[in-house]
Amino acid sequence: MDKLITELSPPRRILMGPGPSNCHPRVLKAMATPLIGHLDPEFLEIMNDTQELLRRVFKTENQLTIPISGTGSSGMEATICNLVEEGDDVIVCVNGTFGARMVDIAERNRARVIRVDEKWGRAIPPEKVAEALKSRKVKLVAIVHAETSTGVYQQLEEIGCLAREHGALFLVDAVTSLGGCPVEVDKWGIDACYSATQKCLSAPPGLAPVTFSPRALEMIENRKTRVPSWYLDMTLVKKYWGKERVYHHTAPISMIYALREALRIILEEGLKARFARHELNHRALAAGLEAMGIDYLPPRGERLWMLNSIMIPAGVDDNKVRSQLLDNYSMEIGGGLGEFKGKVWRVGLMGESSTQANIILFLSALEEILNGEGYPVEVGAAIQAASDIYNSE
Ligand SMILES: *Cc1c(COP(=O)(O)O)cnc(C)c1O
Repeated sequence: MDKLITELSPPRRILMGPGPSNCHPRVLKAMATPLIGHLDPEFLEIMNDTQELLRRVFKTENQLTIPISGTGSSGMEATICNLVEEGDDVIVCVNGTFGARMVDIAERNRARVIRVDEKWGRAIPPEKVAEALKSRKVKLVAIVHAETSTGVYQQLEEIGCLAREHGALFLVDAVTSLGGCPVEVDKWGIDACYSATQKCLSAPPGLAPVTFSPRALEMIENRKTRVPSWYLDMTLVKKYWGKERVYHHTAPISMIYALREALRIILEEGLKARFARHELNHRALAAGLEAMGIDYLPPRGERLWMLNSIMIPAGVDDNKVRSQLLDNYSMEIGGGLGEFKGKVWRVGLMGESSTQANIILFLSALEEILNGEGYPVEVGAAIQAASDIYNSE
């Protein structure tokens, strides 16, 4: 039979990389429900529901809270290209791939970027941002909450306060954090925030939830120049999602179904319980890894629950281990990026993928593979250490 016309049958994978994470079957089912028109009154209801559900997950009252049609990077692009005009001074914090991507996008929008750099694998110290704010009047401070490239958690409250005291807007990348650990848009004074569906929200990739504060929206409405991107111009997109329902583009209907269902699942579990689950599973994984003598890239206190960036033991071949995990256990984990290629593994515990069963399977698979690769580990020690964490709960 012609391979091109055989039925699609991808393998079943346990997705423990930097995204996508596994989807709940209810999300996949929602995607298979019938299409209706995007201006059908029934669909308008679904759009409203989705916005309200997003507000609850972002912890915000912001009217302008919508999913952008595009992946997480489109959320990054949408927030920056709407808030930044030619010649604006903006601070971008860089301690990994995604901070660097923000710089690229801000520069393409002709901002004058003041970089606040920190060693990759470490959080940005607020003092560095305070120092940069002294140099000149800036319009915006941008930062990544959960740096997926290095597994670093960034505290936001202090930097948000500094931005506000200075009269600057505060832009946060919550692509990997939203749905996995607290993200408090209103309480932390965040003016613009974006995420993506395929990380801790556990829906397929394809939408970028974004939210803009009234202050940010006012700034957009008073721009001197038009937003350079037509597709991402929030003054137009807002009218499509708002009361006017003016046609702008055709919302990806099945993806909106998926997001609505994924958000429902999140709120059924409860945000608090969901975050506690992510934390507990991270602690169990960390205990198991420690028992195997495997270290983390970021120091304690700067580690993400949902993305565990761990050091590959000396002499162990990155690709050989990852391909055995994939071939023999159907498990995907991520490799390192940039300077960490071949040095670091990125183990995602995002949304539906963050389960006790996945962790126990991963630890025992890794133990078996490492023993075969000439890195001897005591059999059973990792499982015991992880179980101790679960049993002490
Ligand atoms: C994944 C990710 C992005 C980019 O999202 P895409 O869906 O791949 O476009 C941006 N920022 C962070 C922190 C991410 O983890």
